[in-house]
Parts: sequence; C-alpha cells; structure tokens
Amino acid sequence: MIPFSPPRIDDRTIKAVEDALRSGWITTGPRTKEFERKLAAYCGVERMVALNSWTNACELVLRWYGIGPGDEVIIPAYTYCATANIVMHVGAKPVLVDVLDDLTMDPEAVRKAITARTKCIIPVDIGGLPARMREIMRIAEDACVLFTPAVNLRVAGSNPQMRLGRPLVLSDAAHSFGARIDGKTLGTQADITGFSFHAVKNLTTAEGGALAFHLPQPFELEELYTFFNTMSLHGQSKDALAKTQPGAWRYDVAFPGYKCNMTDLQAAIGLVELDRYDTETLPRRKAICARYQSAFEGDDRFVLPILRDPERETSYHLYMLRIAKATEEQRDAIITAIAAHQVSVNVHFIPLPMLSFYKGQGHRMADFPNAYQQYAREISLPVYYDLSDAQVDEVIAVVKQAVSEVMG
Ligand SMILES: *Cc1c(COP(=O)(O)O)cnc(C)c1O
Repeated sequence: MIPFSPPRIDDRTIKAVEDALRSGWITTGPRTKEFERKLAAYCGVERMVALNSWTNACELVLRWYGIGPGDEVIIPAYTYCATANIVMHVGAKPVLVDVLDDLTMDPEAVRKAITARTKCIIPVDIGGLPARMREIMRIAEDACVLFTPAVNLRVAGSNPQMRLGRPLVLSDAAHSFGARIDGKTLGTQADITGFSFHAVKNLTTAEGGALAFHLPQPFELEELYTFFNTMSLHGQSKDALAKTQPGAWRYDVAFPGYKCNMTDLQAAIGLVELDRYDTETLPRRKAICARYQSAFEGDDRFVLPILRDPERETSYHLYMLRIAKATEEQRDAIITAIAAHQVSVNVHFIPLPMLSFYKGQGHRMADFPNAYQQYAREISLPVYYDLSDAQVDEVIAVVKQAVSEVMG
C-alpha cells in the first residue's frame, strides 16, 4: 500500500523528543523560543510566534484585529474549511470569491467583493503555490478609501484598525512554508502570514502553527509578539517558565485570553524538521513532483499543476493533477480504480459551498464556476520524503491505467 502523506519520523526526531522529555521542561519553553527564532530567520522577518495550530493562531489574528459581527472577511471558495471556520468563530461573515486556473484566489474577484465592511482578506496558497500577493496587497491598499475602522476597539493598548487604515491581509500559508515569491521565502508579502505544522504538512510538529508579522510602521513587532503570546496563555502576564523563577509567583490577567500555546515537545520535532528542510525535505519533494510532471506532460488527458512561474515557486506540498475532460463522477471512478491498486490519493479541496454547513448559509456552488471546474477533475498524488522513485513510478502507472479504464 502506498499511503498519501505520512510524516517523516526517524531516529533523529525520536531522539529530539526524548531529549525534550528528559529535560524536565515539556510545555512552552526554551525549545519553542529557539524554534520561533529560527522560523523568523528562515522567513526573513523579525518576529514569529509559534502556537498550537494554524486555526487557533489565525483566529487570534482576527480577534486581535477586532473583527466580529457585522464585519466581512474575503476568502476563496476553494480552500480547507479552517479558513472559513475562523471567520464564523469570531461572528463575522465569510465572503467567498472564485479562483483562477492555478487554484489561487482571483484578485479581480477580490476587488469586486470589497465593501465598507471588509476587514480582512485571506488568500490561500493552495498546494504550496503562493497566491497573487502583490495584486492582493494593492487591492487592500486601494480599499483604504472605503475602510471604516471600528472606533471603540481597545486591543493591546491601541486600535489596530485605526493604525492600519485598511483591510488586513492575512495569508493562509498552511501549505506554503518555504515557497517563494521573487526568490524570497514567504513571510514578508502579507501583513501577517500563517503557517500550519499539522502532521500532513511539509514541516510538521505533529500539530502546530506559526505567525510571521510584517506590519508597517507604527506597529511594534515586539509589542505584537508579547500580545500574541499573552493572548495564547489566558491573558496572563507571565508564562509558566517565567513563574518557575524563585519568588516570581505573582501574575496578573489583563484580559480573558485563549489557550493555544505550543509545547516544547512539538518544538523539538519542529527544530529537527526545520534544520533539514532546505537540504532534504524540499529537494526530495521537488524531485518527486518533477518526476510526476515529466510523466504526465505531453499527454493531453492531463492538466499539470504550476510548480513555478517567473514570480513564484511552490513549496511542493501537493501534486494537484487534473484529468482534462473528467466530470466529477468520472474523477470519483478514477479514484476508486486507483484505490483498488492500493494507492492512496486525495482531493484538495471540496469547495466550501458543497459542504452542508456553508451550503446552509446560502453559498451556492454555481456562483464559483471555476472552483467547481477545478475541484471536479482534481486528484492529488502522494508526495512525501520517504516516497521512493520506484513508488512514484508505480503511482504514475496506476493513475494512467485508471484514467484509461474510466475515460476510454
Ligand atoms: C491544514 C490547513 C489549515 C489548518 O491548519 P491547522 O494547523 O490544522 O489548524 C488551514 N488552511 C489550509 C488551506 C489547510 O490545508
């Protein structure tokens, strides 16, 4: 059986977790802080905060920006439900827009969706290919004329909506750690970039996430970092490590915060993953994707994913193949035929308007024809460090045979 994307766990990972366990400090502590520093260096930003998931980290961002009932957040229809769910959690309204053929958010659709209520735009780097960040940032800047900041927000001693004066751009980079725009790793393109370290992602901490801050003056990055840390720990003025200092028992609670900090056990895994990310993980993933690409190109039954163009390079998170003329039913039958040969594939993603809850909220698939068109013929093939060339060739043979069986 060829699985879809098992994590890479070897002796080095196990040793790192064992060392953390034996150190006697297992919650947020020195390893998490070191992981944050190294993540920031990798992403080219001054400060990053590591938390327990993309979902909680990005939900904190919406809360920090004071987004709530009456506000709108623009997201693509083609994404994982987390992007929309965090908007629901804060009581705001997700406004869906269609995607381009490369599966990223259509900037022109974003421009049309902007209203005076738009407080945030969340582009998604599907499969690891960065969204059109330059265009989306320009649209957010142009939106300052319509933007109406909430007046009575008091967050971190300031009102971030007043300070920024336009919709916040929060990048859903759950797939795209290490992807590049104009040769630069992601972190400095959006106002805030959110990464996921979930078990299936390129760089994992079992569960985890991080935020890279790149807000313009007069935002103070150190103040932001402190605020997000405090917000992830009940609004408590001291974290557990600080309280272990002799006599340092007293603390205060400035506001009712959340609980979504990263543990040092997670950070121990992350430090190993990060250390070999550029030297081992990305090159192997890239080689696997290149092998798929050369097997399917020139065969007009297939539409190949974009892995790089003059501006962008993917993180090689997903290999999102599309079957040129397949209907949704034919695509499903192809997956059944592939599964019969013990190969696991996946579909990324079922567009939000097809999921019961979002359908019930009145979102209609017919309003996002390209998202449906891409989804209906999409099949993601296995990509992971331990997948051998021989296994890649087996996947290719099985996919081609399944397509012949179903499409004739
Ligand atoms: C995985 C994923 C998330 C959520 O990440 P978690 O760390 O599991 O919260 C968000 N957006 C997209 C596109 C994802 O694939």
